[in-house]
Amino acid sequence: MDFVGIDKFSLLDYEDKIACVLFCKPCNFRCPFCHNGTTVLEAETTIPFEDILEYLETRKGLIDAVVVSGGEPTLMPDLKEKIIKLKEMGFLIKLDTNGTNPEVVKDLYESNLIDYVAMDIKNSFRKYSITAGVKNLDLTKISQTIQYLMTCGIDYEFRTTLIDEFHDASDMSDIAQTIKGAKRLYLQKFVDRESCIQRGLHEVSKEKAEQFVEILKPYIDKVSLRGY
Ligand code: SF4
Repeated sequence: MDFVGIDKFSLLDYEDKIACVLFCKPCNFRCPFCHNGTTVLEAETTIPFEDILEYLETRKGLIDAVVVSGGEPTLMPDLKEKIIKLKEMGFLIKLDTNGTNPEVVKDLYESNLIDYVAMDIKNSFRKYSITAGVKNLDLTKISQTIQYLMTCGIDYEFRTTLIDEFHDASDMSDIAQTIKGAKRLYLQKFVDRESCIQRGLHEVSKEKAEQFVEILKPYIDKVSLRGY
């Protein structure tokens, strides 16, 4: 399965690293606020992986890392084979995931193929389904990925995109309990875009986001705003 998008040079997707970001199409969520609605999840053309490797060959020494993003990369049947090739070229690998495939995350880490994981915490478990845009979501896998990341030794972050329509203070209290003891949580500012799955949602104000940080701080080592 090929990737459908590439950001050839990013300073924003892997902290302190220069990265190339690859986007894949499949996703088992339909988060209403997803920025990749039209650009990735409905993409009709793919980029041959050989072309990506050829490009990266010319960027050795200039780019530190490749971010495998989506969509949901862990749904790609040949993800591991692709990451093996990227790793062989000497790049650090960051995986972006919604956490629904703990077995894939575990296999990649235990095969020394990923260096950093960013996992979305969409919301409190009470509101997870509606925030992820899927009915009757089984949260067991999400819990397993959270627990695995927090205990396996990999460097990781959790991240929550704040939407005024979905997130309130009680959700932050619930999230604090769900990921209590975690290393990092970023609360990300939402920006409404043409490419969103649902238009017209609203960002959480900076003042409210700062209140959310205070709720979460006692339970998580580092809680920061991103994009505010
Ligand atoms: S934001 Fe949601 S729908 Fe969009 S790629 Fe991520 S998990 Fe899938």
